[in-house]
Amino acid sequence: MPRPNPPADAAANSAKGANNEYMAMVLLVDDQAIIGEAVRRALAGEPDIDFHYCAQPDEAVAVAERTQPTVILQDLVMPGTDGLTLVRRYRENPGTRDIPIIVLSTKEEATMKSAAFAAGANDYLVKLPDTIELVARIRYHSRSYLNLLQRDEAYRALRQSQQQLLETNLELQRLTNSDGLTGLSNRRYFDEYLSAEWRRAQREQTQLALLMIDVDAFKAYNDTYGHVAGDEVLRRVAGVIRDNCARPADLPARFGGEEFSMILPATSAGGARLLAEKVRRAIESLQIPHSGSPTSDMVTISIGGAVIVPDENGDASRLVQAADAGLYQAKRNGRNQVVMV
Ligand code: GH3
Ligand code: MG
Ligand code: MG
Repeated sequence: MPRPNPPADAAANSAKGANNEYMAMVLLVDDQAIIGEAVRRALAGEPDIDFHYCAQPDEAVAVAERTQPTVILQDLVMPGTDGLTLVRRYRENPGTRDIPIIVLSTKEEATMKSAAFAAGANDYLVKLPDTIELVARIRYHSRSYLNLLQRDEAYRALRQSQQQLLETNLELQRLTNSDGLTGLSNRRYFDEYLSAEWRRAQREQTQLALLMIDVDAFKAYNDTYGHVAGDEVLRRVAGVIRDNCARPADLPARFGGEEFSMILPATSAGGARLLAEKVRRAIESLQIPHSGSPTSDMVTISIGGAVIVPDENGDASRLVQAADAGLYQAKRNGRNQVVMV
């Protein structure tokens, strides 16, 4: 994100008068005080033009940076640092880089003129210019400079709100895809992800594994300990499932109620079984008391798993049905176990 440019903003603000009309701010850099006095007098009758004068070439860049003029009038011939060198320095300095520069020369000379423009000057006047011309050029350059600052500011604001929109959309997407209780992917995203992985496995002829995980005797848990305690168990089970999805493509999800699932792309039956066993044991070792369970005195889970290399027949629901059949079998066999079909 582009950072705001404080000196430029300061100029845009301070150069705006109370009536919102643009104000010009001139910085004259000239070693001759008499020129300073003459320009001051020429501009004295213009209420919308502020005047600053700097007689020291060595201080000019610092003064310009501090006062943030909307136009610099720069004398070309000075003792010590000459005008062209100063023009280059304004251009190199980030705080003065874009300020319009009108060089003041003692004579109308083609080579001098072209050297001034090459150094970065915007305009060229012969001293002492006619007041009407001087004022007109100051106004013209100031106005276009302030327009430039405003445009940059509007661009920055636009970029910033685009960035915010992007972040909000990402957050919205995350919320749309995740389950409020456990933070795992929700059913909506599970369906989307599974059918995408199904198509990929079909294309690449690779194995796609799915585990369906169901908390045992959970109705009895709620009945014994209450729904709030039940919710906490679901969160802890979800945490174990999430921690066991080691590969980036693995997707842990809350399938619904007290049922969870793990989508495991490019995983063999043996690999899926090992992982399922690991998750089952991890839940067991949480040692969450469950006095209402008919099969154990702790919270346990049953897992059904299936692996398919998809052919052209059917869709991802085949895999869900197969894993569900394994889960049904695990329940029938007495719960707290893994059945791969
Ligand atoms: P089984 O061992 O056969 O899986 O028995 P079970 O009691 O776990 O299965 P059943 O499907 O009969 O009951 C599931 C229970 O899960 C019923 C429901 O109230 C509870 N449940 C579903 N979603 C939530 C939830 O978000 N929070 C809580 N606390 N309970 C939930
Ligand atoms: Mg259950
Ligand atoms: Mg269930």
